[in-house]
Amino acid sequence: MAEIIAKMTQHDYMEREAKYGAHNYHPLPVVLEKGEGVFLYDTDGKRYFDFLSAYSAVNQGHCHPKITKALVEQAQKLTLTSRAFYNDVLGEYEEFVTNYFGYDKVLPMNSGAEGDETALKLCRKWGYTKKGIPENEAKIIVCEGNFHGRTITVISMSNDPESYGGFGPFTPGFIRIPYNDLTALENALKDPNVAGFLVEPIQGEAGVFVPDEGYLKKAYNLCKAKNVLFIADEVQTGIARTGKLIACEHEGVRPDVLILGKAMSGGFYPVSAVLADDDIMLCIKPGEHGSTFGGNPLACKIAIASLEVVRDEKLAENAEKMGTIFRNELTKINSEMIELVRGKGLLNAIVIRPKNGKTAWDVCVAMKDNGLLAKPTHGHIIRFAPPLIITEAQIHDAIAIIKKSIEQF
Ligand code: PLP
Repeated sequence: MAEIIAKMTQHDYMEREAKYGAHNYHPLPVVLEKGEGVFLYDTDGKRYFDFLSAYSAVNQGHCHPKITKALVEQAQKLTLTSRAFYNDVLGEYEEFVTNYFGYDKVLPMNSGAEGDETALKLCRKWGYTKKGIPENEAKIIVCEGNFHGRTITVISMSNDPESYGGFGPFTPGFIRIPYNDLTALENALKDPNVAGFLVEPIQGEAGVFVPDEGYLKKAYNLCKAKNVLFIADEVQTGIARTGKLIACEHEGVRPDVLILGKAMSGGFYPVSAVLADDDIMLCIKPGEHGSTFGGNPLACKIAIASLEVVRDEKLAENAEKMGTIFRNELTKINSEMIELVRGKGLLNAIVIRPKNGKTAWDVCVAMKDNGLLAKPTHGHIIRFAPPLIITEAQIHDAIAIIKKSIEQF
């Protein structure tokens, strides 16, 4: 007798996750099973515009064929050797990625948080060996509203109670100053034990806070005057998202230490990287830092293909062009719920003014029902970050959905 297997509903999928998975996320109620370009499909076959791009990891669009091909080919050959031995791909990647971003050396890791941890270690080591800071006295300046990931040291830098609350004791050695405040930076830099300044060129998780024009350049110059490393966390802003290869380029700043993640792999695999020149990078010696998976052949081939897509498909140029159209169109929406539109390239956000008890969450649920996925951050902000391959026609279709959803309230 043929067995009848009932199709799982979206509710079933959500219940199963709730039963067996830790409750450390609060996802929008939609269960996805397929991605293609700028679109995602749920388990009922409904299509959505992806306006989150996995927090800017899928800049190249979902399941990009060139990256898929690189993954499959390498997966059938060699995936992991660890760094106990050499392999024939790591050097190819290291040469490619350092030329691509213009640095002497790269240190490959996996997640964005690991990239940040690596940069912090590198900065401290440089502070002791090159700047002459007394042992265990190094300090790193960070900004209020920062988001650099979820490890203990990384949350030690955070002033968001949701990030750090209940997880102490914390790693010492950080000075936190307001973001976008050059006077505060200048004052903090008076401490001779400061080794670095860690900054996001645009604060993504905080709600797409774009600093004043000139902030990054002036901050960089202040750091240089005090022999302090300017460290840019471009895990979210990097790889063409804001309309330039890295967001620091908007102000002609070349960070001393550059942290990248997310779109390094087009969403296929965790790949992060720290880039710096020899006088900084070679402060870390054999055995002092590493990762079993960092720089594995599969990751390297995926990253090369992902970065080639960004270059060959001119994604930075497209992000700049589509971003301008998107912000122009968003500002035309006539709703008292939109308090503010801000962003750069295709990293944008609207600040929502609640109406009749309806919040950013309700707007996101309405957009989902109308075929577009985005997620609120900090309660009242909705970030819009579609894949950078989005076309002008698609941008207009998406805007129509956003408009319709907001006007529903
Ligand atoms: N740094 C920034 C600026 C980020 O936006 C994020 C993640 O959103 C991270 C670091 C952490 O990356 P991951 O989640 O891969 O650890």
